[in-house]
Amino acid sequence: MDNVTPLGGEVYEIDTRMAGYSGITAGYLILGDRPCLVETGTSTSAPVVRDALSSLGVGPDDLATVVVTHIHLDHAGGVGDIAAYYPSAEIVVHEKGARHLADPSRLMASAKMVWGDKLDVLFGALTPTDAARIRALGDTGTIDLGGGRTLASHYSPGHAKHHVGLLDSLTGDLYVGDAAGVYLPETGDLRPATPPPDFDLDVALDSIALFSALTPQRLLFSHYGPVEDVPSILERSAEELRVWVDLTRRAHADGMEFDHAVAMVRDRTRERYAALRADDATAERFELLSEAASNVAGIIHWLDRPAR
Ligand SMILES: [Zn+2]
Repeated sequence: MDNVTPLGGEVYEIDTRMAGYSGITAGYLILGDRPCLVETGTSTSAPVVRDALSSLGVGPDDLATVVVTHIHLDHAGGVGDIAAYYPSAEIVVHEKGARHLADPSRLMASAKMVWGDKLDVLFGALTPTDAARIRALGDTGTIDLGGGRTLASHYSPGHAKHHVGLLDSLTGDLYVGDAAGVYLPETGDLRPATPPPDFDLDVALDSIALFSALTPQRLLFSHYGPVEDVPSILERSAEELRVWVDLTRRAHADGMEFDHAVAMVRDRTRERYAALRADDATAERFELLSEAASNVAGIIHWLDRPAR
């Protein structure tokens, strides 16, 4: 299928065609003895993912594990649908996200407040998963991929409080979710992902340092795709966070209105991203993935925390 790309080591990148776009949100299948899907994509992407899996020979009873890096709807919105398609699969998620997969009502209510009418178009609805099928991860955990191969989970908050990175023992691939930002392969751009309400600069930098310490061979971004040059891209991840936080902090300290702060930060960071100088469609996809307003709102939310 044209939305499935083999990456070596029995790893397949699946373009989930989120909201009809190509190349913005990936899921990954690790085939092996115990096939494991990393990220489901949105609920509306679930049929696309199912078709991709069946093209790879994974039938309804063949999928052993579904794991999500965190429970934002672009990564986990399809969990309920995928769990229903694959009744033998265990659903693995960090313990801070587990109850929302079993009962998505609060998660969906807050997503509705953030996204309004765009919710249905972008994500669809996360449906509940039987709690008995969900395994909650602590700070670390292991997924059995079969044949001695494992996926080790490492708690990596900062973008979201229920975020994990996942390291493949065979390939050295690290699934970074959104903890290292958003990567656009066409231009090599990397932009931070700092949405409210969980973003925390210090915690996010600690997670990036943890990723470095794991010495992965390759990073697999959910948005979007593989990156081989691990040290320099993780350095860039940390730098991007600092740049956005510094600019937002200044705007906030000057008492700038929110819309003006967003415009200022977007403008002052524009030259960093080739995508924004590319054609309109590329710029639109990039902005959709890492919306400046959402990033600035998340940083302000963090700056305003009473504990700080
Ligand atoms: Zn995401």
